[in-house]
Amino acid sequence: MKLLVMGPPGAGKGSQSQKLIADYELTHISTGEMFRRSYERGEEIGKKAMAYINEGNLVDDDITNEIVRKRLLKPDAARCFLLDGYPRTVTQAEALDDMLKEMSSSLTAVINIVVDKDIILERMVGRRVCKSCGHTYHKTFKPPKVEGVCDQCGGTLYQRVDDQLESVRNRLKIYETKTKPIIDYYKGRGLLININGMQSFEAVYKDIQKALRGLR
Ligand SMILES: [Zn+2]
Repeated sequence: MKLLVMGPPGAGKGSQSQKLIADYELTHISTGEMFRRSYERGEEIGKKAMAYINEGNLVDDDITNEIVRKRLLKPDAARCFLLDGYPRTVTQAEALDDMLKEMSSSLTAVINIVVDKDIILERMVGRRVCKSCGHTYHKTFKPPKVEGVCDQCGGTLYQRVDDQLESVRNRLKIYETKTKPIIDYYKGRGLLININGMQSFEAVYKDIQKALRGLR
């Protein structure tokens, strides 16, 4: 099973991926983590990558493809993996296809968690976090007993800057312009599986399992 999970911010992509990695025993391949580790080992490639990341930019396609290629050649990636943070551009998606072809392999499926924009806005903008213990709440879906006060520790609840309306709108816009072409690319390759993300975590996961049944 060689998977890629996509979805807008706030679609629950991270937690669905974690559960898939555990249940299907997938090797977790995260470009972000590889860049950090490579940097810590003092490698040239890691230094170059972190320079992009520290300036808030996407890492150059060539650098990213090279680090992924090296990782895919390791034995634990031969049978099954879940890619995280890659591909971020159509150029990277094409490079990934080429790499896998060279290894006589291919992606099994690309899972796309679909959530309406308005629902994402509602989910994220209503989110509140405890300043003291980090527990999260939602104004509508998971309100604290006393408004603005953490049930767990009595701490003050606040809205993270990146959960504010303008910031969420901006992140969604970036996601759409950058990611839509990749989704279209995989649709064209016949690999895309759309999953309705507007359900409970468990229901979304069940739908993903159902879609993966019979695939290897
Ligand atoms: Zn708290």
